Amino acid sequence: MTAPPTRLKSIREERVLEIAWPDGSETRMPFRYLRGRCPCASCVNEFTGERMVDVPDVPEAIEIEGAELTGNYALKITWNDRHDTGLYTWDHLRELCSLREWEA
Ligand SMILES: [Zn+2]
Repeated sequence: MTAPPTRLKSIREERVLEIAWPDGSETRMPFRYLRGRCPCASCVNEFTGERMVDVPDVPEAIEIEGAELTGNYALKITWNDRHDTGLYTWDHLRELCSLREWEA
């Protein structure tokens, strides 16, 4: 199991979430990308794995309205588009950090 991040900081002016891990790696992940990688059942079809809400579907002005830890395994994010069902597990976040798809 992935160890929790050592730092999670929302930087509103740049619309990025700063994520630091125990190994010292740091990532600044755009809100829009993160919202477009929401793993919940209304964003990804549970049966087919098809993604229903992808990064291009997310408004440019997306913001994090609130975030809370769920147990010690995930971050639950409330977005300003009223979406709040996404649980970002450390595994999922870590994978997104390593993929860096938003830089492509
Ligand atoms: Zn979702």
